[in-house]
Amino acid sequence: MSNHWADRIAEECLKKSKKVIATGITPSGEIHIGNMREVLTGDMIYKALLDLGAEAEFLYIADTFDPLRRLYPFLPALYKDYIGQPLYRIPDPFGCHESYSEHFLDPFLKSLEILDVHPKIYRSHELYKKGLYEDAIKRAIENRDKIAEILESKSKRKVSENWSPYAPLCKNCGRINSTEVLSFSGHYVQYRCNNCGYEGRSDIRRDEGKLGWRIDWPARWKILNVTIEPFGKDHATVGGSYDTGKIISREIYEYEPPYPVIYEWISLKGHDMSSSKGITISIYDVLKSVPPEALRYLISSSRPNKHLNFDPGLSTLKLINDLNMLDERDPLSSRELRFSRIEGKTMRIKVPFEHMINVVQISKGDLQRSKEILERGGYHLDEDELREWSEYAINWLKNYAPESIKFSVQESMPKSALSLDKDLKEGLKRISERLSDGLSGEDIHYMIYQVAGELGIKVSKLFEAVYIALLDKKSGPRAGLFIQTVGINFVKKRFKEIAGS
Ligand SMILES: [Zn+2]
Ligand SMILES: [Zn+2]
Repeated sequence: MSNHWADRIAEECLKKSKKVIATGITPSGEIHIGNMREVLTGDMIYKALLDLGAEAEFLYIADTFDPLRRLYPFLPALYKDYIGQPLYRIPDPFGCHESYSEHFLDPFLKSLEILDVHPKIYRSHELYKKGLYEDAIKRAIENRDKIAEILESKSKRKVSENWSPYAPLCKNCGRINSTEVLSFSGHYVQYRCNNCGYEGRSDIRRDEGKLGWRIDWPARWKILNVTIEPFGKDHATVGGSYDTGKIISREIYEYEPPYPVIYEWISLKGHDMSSSKGITISIYDVLKSVPPEALRYLISSSRPNKHLNFDPGLSTLKLINDLNMLDERDPLSSRELRFSRIEGKTMRIKVPFEHMINVVQISKGDLQRSKEILERGGYHLDEDELREWSEYAINWLKNYAPESIKFSVQESMPKSALSLDKDLKEGLKRISERLSDGLSGEDIHYMIYQVAGELGIKVSKLFEAVYIALLDKKSGPRAGLFIQTVGINFVKKRFKEIAGS
């Protein structure tokens, strides 16, 4: 059996007859890279179960019925009036989707497609609207005192006299956080709204009210038959929502709580991610410049309880290179690869991204030229994968690359090359004479050392001359492979021209 964390969890869960993995996020703001860990963790366990031949289901529940908690910095001031209203009933602050929650869900769901994650998607308000919560709400209201006792003893929080596990949605002002339950009979809950004074009744078979989070979660386990659930460490504290959820699940809903998979946070360049503080990076944006394989590998290569740091810049380049270097013959590496790959995109990941970064800079983004350069290096991509890999490289360069990595091959001899020392020009001449099509990047690299030795010049100076001759700057990508990638004939001609100047 493999040692990969997802395989181990899958194996552990094999004992249960039905495997249903649930994940969920509240779409109250931009869904960021930190939130992504939840779905990717679930997805990898799901795939590990399928690999074991188990029958499994993978769910994603968007908490669209949650209220807007406060006026986030990205919201217009008038949205103050929507605080306390369910997200799916609030208009899109940007005017492009049917609701607030859809605005943030839409790019996230598109990102899931790109990440090769395909859960069954639920919106929490629809589960209520379909009446799926009827029995759970009934039991919660009938067991109000018992639940209050569980919450008080476990979470050490005082539950107020008029507290109810069920919060009716005020039909008058639309808030779900300001009503008080007066009575319950049949399918109806009588309530009074402390915000607007309205009194009315909610049908528990409709989306006219919801269970509080700590009850909603265990109720959902039973309704959707959840047996495995990844969740953030904030829910896993002593007296936290998993702690109380477990007891409520067993004692109120007679349901065995799901196997917990607790994951750590992902920080962004060393800072905790937070949508409200603006320390965030949306998955959708990142996926325009960073291949999904890299994000999958970030999650796949570390156990869920390990804190991760994400940096879309140089670290991402390293991440993709590490992924590229994985040896399929090693059992753990082969599983990491399996969980990082995108179905149907198997070739592009074989082209080192660092190489691709150089290729698109040399070809200036021209696909035909990129194709020729790649083929010279033995990489054959079909049109789609070539276009995608090249787009990622171009966007990454534009959005996240440090200046030191960017270069532009000079179409004609740079003026700065004229003032190179005589012995450096002689060095370029000798390199030019010895370059030939059959040489590998490594051969060329070694040859540059040889030439420097013969002339008694510092090899670092000769490398500098190479870069000045081609890029009009003193540094660049590893010279041997770079010369080969730019094209032997082009380089021969350029070096000869400089030697004769
Ligand atoms: Zn929108
Ligand atoms: Zn009201």
